Amino acid sequence: MKLDTLAVHAGDRKRTGSFVPVTTPIYSASSFFYPELETLDRVFGNEIPGQNYTRYGNPTSNALEEQVAALEGGEWALACASGMAALHLAVTAALADRRKSIVAGPVLYGATIRLLTEILVPAGVEVHFADPADPPAFEATVSERRPSCVLMESITNPMLRVTPVDAVVEIAHRHGALVVVDSTFATPLLLRPLELGADLVVHSLTKYLGGHGDVLGGVVVSRDGFRPVLQAISRTVGGVLGPFEAYLAMRGIKTFPLRMARQCANACRVATWLAAHPRIERIHFPGDPRHPDAAVVRRLFPAGLYGGMVSFEVKDAGREQIFRLLDSLKMIVPATSLGDVHTMILYPPMSSHRDLAPKHRQRLGIGENFLRLSVGIEAPEDIIEDLRQALDSSLA
Ligand SMILES: *Cc1c(COP(=O)(O)O)cnc(C)c1O
Repeated sequence: MKLDTLAVHAGDRKRTGSFVPVTTPIYSASSFFYPELETLDRVFGNEIPGQNYTRYGNPTSNALEEQVAALEGGEWALACASGMAALHLAVTAALADRRKSIVAGPVLYGATIRLLTEILVPAGVEVHFADPADPPAFEATVSERRPSCVLMESITNPMLRVTPVDAVVEIAHRHGALVVVDSTFATPLLLRPLELGADLVVHSLTKYLGGHGDVLGGVVVSRDGFRPVLQAISRTVGGVLGPFEAYLAMRGIKTFPLRMARQCANACRVATWLAAHPRIERIHFPGDPRHPDAAVVRRLFPAGLYGGMVSFEVKDAGREQIFRLLDSLKMIVPATSLGDVHTMILYPPMSSHRDLAPKHRQRLGIGENFLRLSVGIEAPEDIIEDLRQALDSSLA
């Protein structure tokens, strides 16, 4: 079945007693039992599937997990309390019983960098960074460091570089490393890393999959072999998603393919308009034919789909002009997060990349004039009109 169909059907409509609910209800129960204790004993023993305690699993979360596993082409998924909880779980699982060494992409979500450098490094994990856009240098680092885990984001934030996931998998596996891909920005509409050989895929459900700005959650999707280790860690550490959040995420995901297709189309319109605007110095958009990873985009993404994010630099603007610009917006929401139905704009020097020294930011390509737009599902004319009036009125 196709993605659009799976989003609507996968995980739902399990028979409960004599009837079938059309959507999965919220099972708020913290524990479960059976008419015969024998059955509960076998559930505890993992001999038969079933429910016993919500930290071990929950019917609402299980339905969401089935839905996301279907979208990613994975065998199994585990819903977590946040995207960060999911990343921590995936990386911990990839390191379990193996050399405590990670090679990570050079540009990562801010909290992911902190997870690596402030939580894992002090716990004795070796962490090195390497850029897969330069395959020989990347392979040299992997070969020298012999990591158990290679961690990448499929589309990086906020430069929107596109990772050659196929090449990363090939190099990592040749050197015995597992590959964890944070695919939050690409979503399964653009890329399904498991189908390219990746071992674990992580999403922040908070972003495109949930899509409505009303739920925080994460998920790890895997091939079946990882189920025991993921389950063992999660059942002990307990960073699982609650059933109310699982319900909201599942409801959001039913329209995810529709929303994302619209967001991708809107992003193309907005990027083209921005690129031609006299006050815009430069755009960063995977659909731009001059994008540094244009060849990777052509190889990995379906034609015409480049994601819903557009970054851009405003000509001769500093912090003060950028603040005026954002304060002039009438519809676009100047809040953190991304992937929601409403268009959002973020100033990385103030938020996601606040803790970096300006020099370090500059090295990453993030100047004081840099903005990141998460394009929503509104009429594209209205998004463009809001940007136009804000650029005109604030930079006059
Ligand atoms: C938001 C985000 C996360 C963290 O997800 P939370 O749900 O906020 O914990 C991780 N990676 C990427 C790429 C993100 O955008």
